[in-house]
Amino acid sequence: MDLGPPLASPGSIAAALEPLLAQADLPHRLAALARHMTGRIVFTTSFGLEDQAITHAVWDSDLDLPIEIVTLDTGRLFPETYDLWHETETRYGRRIRAFAPDSGALETLVAAQGVNGFRGSVEARKACCHVRKVEPLRRALAGASAWITGLRAEQSPNRAGVPLAEADAGFGLVKVNPLADWRRDDLTRYVRDHAVPYNPLHDQGYPSIGCQPCTRAVRVGEPERAGRWWWEDEARKECGLHVRTPLRDAREGERLNNPHNVSGDLRPS
Ligand code: SF4
Repeated sequence: MDLGPPLASPGSIAAALEPLLAQADLPHRLAALARHMTGRIVFTTSFGLEDQAITHAVWDSDLDLPIEIVTLDTGRLFPETYDLWHETETRYGRRIRAFAPDSGALETLVAAQGVNGFRGSVEARKACCHVRKVEPLRRALAGASAWITGLRAEQSPNRAGVPLAEADAGFGLVKVNPLADWRRDDLTRYVRDHAVPYNPLHDQGYPSIGCQPCTRAVRVGEPERAGRWWWEDEARKECGLHVRTPLRDAREGERLNNPHNVSGDLRPS
């Protein structure tokens, strides 16, 4: 399907992409994006289950997708995450480009709030996330025309309504969430069926894995992201990477969050 003449804005591109993505499987969602975008397309992985599925779709397909895979190395990740990073590069024979915090900004942050100062207040936590994640993300996305993420609508109340494609006003690009409409069971099935490498912490009660000191296992019945910054109010629990903007399409609110209990054993059956 042709999108027609060049489209002017990220919002109009996202609106045109959405129906194309809705009717395709994961690899062909990525292929549709690549076919209709010019410029850099960047996928940011944090090695969670969603991101591993997308990495597999990008690198294990014969579609030769021109998608850069990058990661934000906060310096505070779980040892298991670094091991998975290595395992993933080995499996696909490709290197994932890492963006680290600016060393000067990190030294200033730690001097001001201490090495674990992020527990002191929401503001202190957001300052840490800004230095370790948000600023490196800005460098990772510099000059990009599209950004691929592993967001899913059912992950948390904050993510309900995440569309397949949207405009990101903050970065001035098209943001594509190719798993937005996937349920946890869809994801675990894909990972299992394709023998995608994944973090063993997922089998130990961690459906969502971020920095080690800011992630705990969840209890049965809790939302998937309840273990992230668990000491904070649910409504404030995002790290600043995914900021909803007025340019989002009008379907905001139509996709209701469906609090999802952790389910789906990933171990080979
Ligand atoms: S998740 Fe925690 S350790 Fe990681 S950047 Fe944010 S506050 Fe800092």
